[in-house]
Amino acid sequence: LVSRDFHPASTQVRVGPVIIGDGQPPVMMAGPCSIESEAQMLASARIVRDAGATILRGGAFKPRTGPHSFQGLGVEGLKLLRQAGDAVGLPVVTEVMRIGQLEDVCRYADLLQIGARNMQNFDLLKEVGRLRVPVLLKRGMSATIEEFLAAAEYIVAEGNDQLILCERGIRTFETATRNTLDLSVVPLVRQLSHLPIIVDPSHATGRRPLVPVMAQAALVCGAHGLMVEVHHDPAHALCDGAQSLDGPQFARLMGQLAQLTAFL
Ligand code: PEP
Ligand code: MN
Repeated sequence: LVSRDFHPASTQVRVGPVIIGDGQPPVMMAGPCSIESEAQMLASARIVRDAGATILRGGAFKPRTGPHSFQGLGVEGLKLLRQAGDAVGLPVVTEVMRIGQLEDVCRYADLLQIGARNMQNFDLLKEVGRLRVPVLLKRGMSATIEEFLAAAEYIVAEGNDQLILCERGIRTFETATRNTLDLSVVPLVRQLSHLPIIVDPSHATGRRPLVPVMAQAALVCGAHGLMVEVHHDPAHALCDGAQSLDGPQFARLMGQLAQLTAFL
């Protein structure tokens, strides 16, 4: 069902007023890794809106590697995300980690994110497939393209074709970057599937200085958009500060991307 052989026309996904897919300008989803407080969320939301992002991100349920790291604010965080999105007029995306969180996440979010660690949580995939809410599916860190598309198939097979794929880097022998950004997946998925695909250069590199250049590279490769972590004060971020852009850096990136897309 996700294959272009079966469905030749490209699928467009609608998130609030934003349309993602072929023939649309690249979407920019941006915001902090984690929702930390009302003030932090609002400051980050203003930064990304003022620079031209059209979807606000923020994690309330965080899949942290260790149990002693900040786990997110949960439902309280969802409310702060919604409040910040409404304050700046942007739809919001946030991660759902398990079926039990779906009701709360659907109440507050416009786009449901399935994180890399849950790409093969088949029960969760089936459940979001039964909803009529757009979904962002991130590639598992060790998933092949075939496995990535098979995971997408679970969602579409239940009737939900409002699905965006996201390349966020894969695990390789290289440790200098957090993950290895597999940009070849972008043209390949565009060829194999009718679903839109975006790139997350923040989790892919783990390093702030690499984010802008890889963001540009992703658009050159044909990505339908980007997801970028932005924090008003990255040095004090509770999660992923090292890969987060601050306000001026994000505004500069948006300027560079505007110049680039004029050529594409
Ligand atoms: C995230 O986007 O906050 C996140 C945890 O990403 P990933 O699932 O790609 O690691
Ligand atoms: Mn993060």
